[in-house]
Amino acid sequence: MEPVNDGPACVVWELTLACNLKCLHCGSTAGGRRAEELSPGEALELCADLKKSGCRGVALMGGEPLLRKDFFAIASRVRELGMELSVITNGTIYSEDIFRKLKELGPRAVAVSLDAAGPALHDRIRGAAGAFEKTRKFMERCLAEGLPLSVITTVHKLNILELPGLRDLLKGRGIAWQVQTAGAEGGRFSKEFLLGPEEFYSVGLFVEACRREYGPRVLPVIGAHDLGYNSLLLKNVSLYEKWEGCQAGISVAGIRSDGGVMGCLAINSPEFIEGNVREKSFYEIWNRPGAFSYTRGFKKELAGGNCSACAHVEKCRGGCSEMSLMKTGGLHNDPYCFCRLEKEMFREELENPLNKLGFKLGGLAAKGAPGRLGRIFSGDRKGGE
Ligand code: SF4
Ligand code: SF4
Repeated sequence: MEPVNDGPACVVWELTLACNLKCLHCGSTAGGRRAEELSPGEALELCADLKKSGCRGVALMGGEPLLRKDFFAIASRVRELGMELSVITNGTIYSEDIFRKLKELGPRAVAVSLDAAGPALHDRIRGAAGAFEKTRKFMERCLAEGLPLSVITTVHKLNILELPGLRDLLKGRGIAWQVQTAGAEGGRFSKEFLLGPEEFYSVGLFVEACRREYGPRVLPVIGAHDLGYNSLLLKNVSLYEKWEGCQAGISVAGIRSDGGVMGCLAINSPEFIEGNVREKSFYEIWNRPGAFSYTRGFKKELAGGNCSACAHVEKCRGGCSEMSLMKTGGLHNDPYCFCRLEKEMFREELENPLNKLGFKLGGLAAKGAPGRLGRIFSGDRKGGE
């Protein structure tokens, strides 16, 4: 079978659904293991299969990945095979061994989740008393060990006002910060806590304001894939200078702990499982003609009403697939794209061409910022110099 492309730049691998916390917004409602979790032997075979498929980086996540007894065996195999490694953890499991082994692995990033600037709200969101203090301790130890620490904050109505407090906690400490918004896929999260359109847009404004005020040396901050697309005002919210459309099945893939392969694990829906590594290799699943057709085979005729008339549709493919599905039930129809929200929120202002020009000029981000951010988010903390 001929490869369809160079293989995934990044595979996000849910090593286990077991978790010691009960986070409200968890999209996969983690807690217990999946019945058919891959065995240690299957997991090691999968590492080799990923390498054969051209995979360049693996992000190990959960549930809580450090709960898997063979976590370091899998992580070491990823590195031995020459792939980059990121670890996404809730940061509540602490031992001398963990930090020693993490250092030996030379990860690209150790990312911990932090949802509030203080213990009361963070512990409420994470469903466990004491979670905030444990995570803070984990973060401090990562910094002391020189590990490339990142923080991921998932924003919803309960914690949107925490963003300035979190910014003050993180700035100037060499911590990369990813801000993302909560979806409604999980069973513990009430839809009433989802951000409304103006709140959603204000998260993008906040990220842009942080970038302008502090720059990547003091506060390297990005918005996740769910924030952005062809904005007039906010040129630079995500890591990349330009939005190239949902990368599920193009440059990224997700693997569930039962071996199910998806374009993106954020799409928590069984019909998007492209195959299982117990039945076919990852290489075969990735390279099957017709696989991941919703991104690889996109045509503008497939776009929904929010996107069909948009000038950017062919490249953008209608924003984030997960956001589009969650909000509209269909693909290629993301209602929260910044391009669209701005047209709705600033309709009158945009009718004046001078205002439009002002928006464009005002929206230009600091020269060179994407390059510096790219280096920092690739583990090079000197990249901001
Ligand atoms: S309206 Fe749709 S196609 Fe246009 S930029 Fe937004 S998400 Fe992309
Ligand atoms: S579904 Fe959304 S989060 Fe997933 S790869 Fe596509 S754009 Fe990114």
